[in-house]
Parts: sequence; C-alpha cells; structure tokens
Amino acid sequence: MTDGRERSTSELAAVDVLIVGAGPVGLTLANILGGRGLQVLIAEERDVLIDYPRGVGLDDESMRAFQGIGLSKNVEQHLIPNQILRFVNGKGELLAEMAPSQAQFGWPRRNGFVQPLVDAELLEGLGRFDTVEVCWSAPMQSMREDGDSVVVELLEGGVSREVRARYVVGCDGGKSRTRHIIGTAFDGVTSSTRWLVVDLAHDPLGSPNSYVGADPGRPYASISIAHGIRRFEFMLMDDEHDSEVDDIGFVRTLLGLHIPRPEDAEIIAYRIYTHHSRIAGEFGRGRIFIAGDAAHLMPVWQGQGYNSGVRDAVNLGWKLAAVCSGQADPDLLATYDTERRGHARA
Ligand SMILES: Cc1cc2nc3c(=O)[nH]c(=O)nc-3n(C[C@H](O)[C@H](O)[C@H](O)COP(=O)(O)OP(=O)(O)OC[C@H]3O[C@@H](n4cnc5c(N)ncnc54)[C@H](O)[C@@H]3O)c2cc1C
Repeated sequence: MTDGRERSTSELAAVDVLIVGAGPVGLTLANILGGRGLQVLIAEERDVLIDYPRGVGLDDESMRAFQGIGLSKNVEQHLIPNQILRFVNGKGELLAEMAPSQAQFGWPRRNGFVQPLVDAELLEGLGRFDTVEVCWSAPMQSMREDGDSVVVELLEGGVSREVRARYVVGCDGGKSRTRHIIGTAFDGVTSSTRWLVVDLAHDPLGSPNSYVGADPGRPYASISIAHGIRRFEFMLMDDEHDSEVDDIGFVRTLLGLHIPRPEDAEIIAYRIYTHHSRIAGEFGRGRIFIAGDAAHLMPVWQGQGYNSGVRDAVNLGWKLAAVCSGQADPDLLATYDTERRGHARA
C-alpha cells in the first residue's frame, strides 16, 4: 500500500474502469466499484440481460458479497435457502444427501436461485450510482494499451467509438474476446456429453428439494429453484442428435419420466449445453484483466461457475478501487491472479 496517488491519467481516461459484459460478474464488479465512487462503463453486446436458463445454485459466499454491495435483501427473494440435494439411483433409492446446516458467513450454504432474476437485481442496483453507465448493444471490438490507459473500441449502432479507461476487466463469458486479445491460453477439456436443460413453471413435483439421478438409463438432475420453478437436466445419448432433441415433443417425453401429465407442463425455456473445464494462463496482463467465465470454466455440477466469478469480482473490485483512488500501489493488482487461480482451479 502507498500514500501516493498513481500517476494521474485524468486527462486521458474517460472512465476509471471499463467492464466488458453485463453478466453477473461484470454487474457485481460494477456495484463494488460504483459503491466506491469510481467512474465505470459497462459495454454489453446484447440489448438485454441473458434470460435463458443457467445457474441454479448460489452459495453463502456470494450472498455475503451481495450483502457487501447492499443487495442481499433484493437477491434473497429469488432464493430457496438451505436447499437439500439428494443423490438417488435408478430406482430412486437414496445414495447420499447434502444438507449443510452451517452458516459461517451468516448465510445458508446452499441456495436454489433463478439466475436471470438475480442478475436483474444486480443491474437494478447500479441505478444507485451516478458514476456507473451501462452501454447496451455495444460489442467490444478491440483494445490496446496506450501509456497509462487502455483504448477500447466499441461498436454502437454500427459506428465505432473509442473509450479510454485506466483499467479494463473482461467479464465477457467463456468465449471472451478480451482473453483472446490478451493472448493467453485457455487450457482444459471439453466433455463430449451434452445435456438438455429445461425450466418448468408451477413445479409439478411441488417440493422444495433437489435430486441428482445416478440413473444408468439416463442420468438427470431435478432441482427446485425459487418462484415455483423446477429445473431438469437430462444427459443426452451420443446417438441423439441436436436436431432430434431440440424439439418440444422430445422434451415432454423426457419430462414424462419424472412428472405427471408432461403434456400440461409449462415450459419456460429449454436449451442444450456441453460442459467445459478450462482455466486461462493469466487472469490479466498489464492494465487488462479477465474475470468469471472469461478466466475459468467448470462443469455446472458443482454449482461454482457463477459463485467463483462473484469471488473474482470481490477480489479484484476492492483492489482496483484502492489503486484508482491512490490508496494502493498498482502492484497490488498482481495478487488477483495469485489469490484466485488456485481456488478457481480447485
Ligand atoms: C445449465 C447451467 C447451469 C449452471 N448452474 C450453475 C450453478 O448452479 N451455480 C453456479 O455458480 N454457476 C452455474 N452455472 C454457470 C453460470 O451460469 C456462469 O458461470 C455465469 O453466468 C458466468 O458469469 P459471467 O458474468 O462470467 O459471464 P456471462 O454470464 O456469460 O456474461 C458475459 C456477458 O458478456 C457479454 N459479452 C460477450 N462478449 C462481449 C463483447 N465482445 N462485448 C460486449 N459484451 C460481450 C455477453 O453478452 C454476456 O452478457 C451454470 C451454467 C449453465 C449453462
């Protein structure tokens, strides 16, 4: 830490931090930085938040992070706290149960949640800060370091616009363009297994609990999340081609193995996923960092993609704020990679 300010870039920088991507990691980071008075621009290529089915398990550390940015009450309404997870065999017999009762961080350790609704709360939270702006339909095209700032090219309405930032954080997901620009590796494996993910309204099972089915016939997960939504994830067989399974009739046939009257089930959305395990060679280079899925991808089973990304935002957020306000030396930022890598890899 140092008492001196980092060399002033105010004549160059339009913002302190430019965040690429308005996913949960970029939004959490923007809330942290906004709360500390930094000038922040989020550039998001979409015109709205992602609303298709994704994360369903939020942990106690994420809740502690949301408490830190003053949004725990807003998020809490989209949770099923203390969710019990049961592993069953093909006959439905209990193999193992996860029902943690501790709350070391003041929050239940396992919470079912609805990602798009929690992400929307994080976005809403940014309205508290005059210094934070979200720029929609603005894909980041390129960036280059230029002295003590980074020049970022955004495309807005087909027109190129350059923004200067003291630091850039790519929270732009698994296919991160920021990571490509840094030029770091993204080593790991991609599973050959595909999963069909289905969200249902008005939970036809009517129970708050969740199951992982170790069923040799077709492994599945059946997860209760908030607002009466139930998530099913079905493993797809190699000979079931996307064109065959991306079909409402096929979806209802699989649902019929687990719920009564699948023809009446209210399907919110369904989507096919493949799982990846990858980690970037560097979580940052110079003034450009990557966080969340841009830096590491993990199979969804452990429910840690979202949670580990929130931890990235917390780790990097206070450090960027301390450096930009002159309370810390820029060398502090190197500890982001050191501190987060081992955890994300594990
Ligand atoms: C089926 C499924 C279940 C899951 N379950 C869980 C779970 O239970 N628990 C858990 O912790 N995690 C879970 N995850 C993982 C979790 O959803 C992700 O880890 C999380 O969304 C990553 O957040 P992110 O902000 O890093 O990236 P994203 O949410 O992918 O956001 C990236 C954003 O960047 C934008 N973007 C990309 N490129 C550009 C560009 N060039 N310019 C501007 N914007 C750009 C994108 O449009 C997007 O809005 C699950 C995922 C899936 C698919």
